[in-house]
Amino acid sequence: MKVKIYGVRGSYPPTTGNGTQFGVNTTCLRVDLGKHIVIIDAGTGIINLGSDLISEMKSGKSKQNFQKLYLLFTHTHIDHLMGFPYFNMIYMPQTELNVITPTQLNYSIQEILETLMSPAFFPVTISELPSTIQYHDFAENRTLYFYDDEYEVVSLNKTPSKSAWIGRISTMRNYTHPKGGVYIYKFENHAGNSVVFATDIEGYVGGDQRLAKFAHNANILIHDAQYSLKEYEMFQGFGHSTFVMACEVAKNAGIKKLILSHHDPKHGDEELKQLEKEAQKIFPETYLASEAMEFVF
Ligand SMILES: [Zn+2]
Ligand SMILES: [Zn+2]
Repeated sequence: MKVKIYGVRGSYPPTTGNGTQFGVNTTCLRVDLGKHIVIIDAGTGIINLGSDLISEMKSGKSKQNFQKLYLLFTHTHIDHLMGFPYFNMIYMPQTELNVITPTQLNYSIQEILETLMSPAFFPVTISELPSTIQYHDFAENRTLYFYDDEYEVVSLNKTPSKSAWIGRISTMRNYTHPKGGVYIYKFENHAGNSVVFATDIEGYVGGDQRLAKFAHNANILIHDAQYSLKEYEMFQGFGHSTFVMACEVAKNAGIKKLILSHHDPKHGDEELKQLEKEAQKIFPETYLASEAMEFVF
């Protein structure tokens, strides 16, 4: 399992042009499970991800399956969606993109993507794309199993059809983000390593216990930490966390490494480094997410 971060910012890409070592793109994560490439969220980070896929494909050295891609959304707020029309792989005829995502509010993911790529917003519509896009529902009571060459969605309490799975994805719904909440995802490999991606969530006093249970003993927890403690006083209820909330979950869940993400676009590098230092006082193995950060298990 390989996890690579392509987008670290919340709300919108920073506009100040001061430069940053952490990155300017909105949320996008890549998780390779065996040869399967899974993408989570289509913030502007997906544009660089697309470029990487083309380079890897052209190099001829990679065994990854570039034709059949998987895309999951935590939710479809614009910062998690705005890169989609610029994702180069959807313009390639050989691409089969499997969008596996629960219904968002009352809209299916198909309706949302078709609206985004409709004449009022973008010159190319989904039906004009040369690639094939397939939509699949997903939910808390299902697990996605990946085998060497295929995948299946398995309902709760059912066993996967093959024991030789190489990776699996489960999800937990979180209701703290306006207005439809978000889906938190857990990625596991057969060796028992796991990574949990929990963005756009607001914590609770003492840490979210449901999340701590879901993320129990994970190697890595990537957690929202958009606000400083002072900002949180103004933005309580906006659906984002402070580093304290993230650290509390990490402690309660026995996480090995905590990665703070969804950085506020107004936060400069000095401010971000200060937040990291403060967080490390509570949970020493805490680091700020930066683009191109990569973990291999
Ligand atoms: Zn967001
Ligand atoms: Zn959001």
